[in-house]
Amino acid sequence: MRKIVLLGATGSIGRTTLDLVRRNPEKFQIVGASAHSNFGELEKIASKFQIPNLLDTRGEFSATEFLKKCEPDIVLNAVSGFSGLKFSIAAGELGVDLALANKESLVAGGELLTEIFRKNGGKILPVDSEHSAIFQCLAGRSDFEKIFLTCSGGPFFGKNSAELSQISVEQALAHPRWKMGAKISVDSATLANKVLEVFEAMHLFSLRRDQIEILIHPQSIVHSMVQFRDSSVIAQISPPTMELPISLALNFPEKIDTDCPCQNFKNLNLSFFEPDLETFRTLKILEICAEKMQNFPIVFNAANEIFVAEFLAGNLKFLQIFELLERAISETKFESVDSIKKIFEIDERARKMAITFLKK
Ligand code: NDP
Ligand code: MG
Repeated sequence: MRKIVLLGATGSIGRTTLDLVRRNPEKFQIVGASAHSNFGELEKIASKFQIPNLLDTRGEFSATEFLKKCEPDIVLNAVSGFSGLKFSIAAGELGVDLALANKESLVAGGELLTEIFRKNGGKILPVDSEHSAIFQCLAGRSDFEKIFLTCSGGPFFGKNSAELSQISVEQALAHPRWKMGAKISVDSATLANKVLEVFEAMHLFSLRRDQIEILIHPQSIVHSMVQFRDSSVIAQISPPTMELPISLALNFPEKIDTDCPCQNFKNLNLSFFEPDLETFRTLKILEICAEKMQNFPIVFNAANEIFVAEFLAGNLKFLQIFELLERAISETKFESVDSIKKIFEIDERARKMAITFLKK
C-alpha cells in the first residue's frame, strides 16, 4: 500500500490519478490532498476517498509542515505553474519521492532542485509523458547519445502565422490528442510546452541542449525515444493517456495492470516532422534561453504564465504571446541562480516586468 499526497487533486492530472486510485484501492491510499479555487470540490473528493489531510492553497501555509503531517511514501505534484515549486522543494528536503507532473518546478528549480533530491535521497519520477518515456527507454543507462523529444504539434500544426492571427481561446484549448488543464493546453498550442519540456529533460537527465531533438509527431503514439551509442533507438509506445505515466511513477519500479487500451499496430501510420520555427517562435526563444540558462528559463516561465493568463482572459491575441515572450527575453540580463531565494526573486521580477508590457 503506497501512501500518496496528491497536490492539485481537482485538476486534470489530479482527476486521472483519483480514477487510478479508485480502481486500485489495495495499492494506494491518499493521505493528503490540495486544491486552490475548487476547495469545495476537494472536500467532496476527500469524503469519497477518506483523505485525512486537506490543504487549501489560497491561504497561508507551509508546504513542508503539510507534507510532514501527511507522512507520505510519495508526493504527486499536479499543481499547475510556478506555484508547484515550493511543494517540490519541500518533498526534496524531506527526502520523499516525488512523482512530478508540475514541470514548471524543474524549469525554475533547475539544478538547485535536483541537488536537494540528491542530497536527501528522494527520487524525482517524471509524470510528463515524454519524460516518463525517456525515463523508461533509458532504464538507468548512461551510454546514450541523444533524446528525441516528441511533440504532437498542438492544434495548430501545419498552420502559418497569418492563419494564427485570429485564433480564439476555444480553438487554442481544443488539443487534438490530450484533454488537459487550460494553461498547458495553451502552452501546447504555442509550443511553449515543448520549451519547458526541453529544460525539464535537461535537468532530469543531465542533458545538454544539443542532446535533445524536438520531433513533431502528430499521432502522439511514440512518447519519446532515446538513441544509444551504438545508434540503436528505443522508443516508448502507447495510445495517448496520462494514466500510464502516472501509474508508473506511483508504482515505480513496478508496472501494474491498467485499463489503458493496447496499441494496435495494424494499418498504423506514424509520421515525424521538423518543427516550424518561423511560426512557433517559442522554439527560437528556446535557443536563446538554452544558451544562457540560469535565470533565463525562470524568466521565460514566469512571463509565459502571465501572457497565457491574459490570453485566456481574452486580453491578448494568440500571436501576441510570441511577441511579448520575445520582448521579455530580449530585455533580460544574465544572472546566475545560486540560491532557492534567488529563484523566487527572479520569478517575481519577471512577472512584474511582464505585467508592465501589458499596460503599454
Ligand atoms: P489543471 O489546471 O487541470 O489543474 C491544476 C491544479 O492545480 C488544480 O488542482 C488547481 O486547483 C491547482 N492549482 C491551481 N493554481 C494553484 C496555485 N496557485 N497553488 C496551488 N495549487 C494550484 O492542470 P493539469 O492537471 O492539466 O496540469 C497540472 C500540471 O501537470 C502542470 O504543471 C502541467 O504542465 C502538468 N502536466 C499536465 C498534463 C496533462 O495531461 N494535464 C500532462 C503533462 C504535464 P483548483 O482546481 O482547486 O483551482
Ligand atoms: Mg508532455
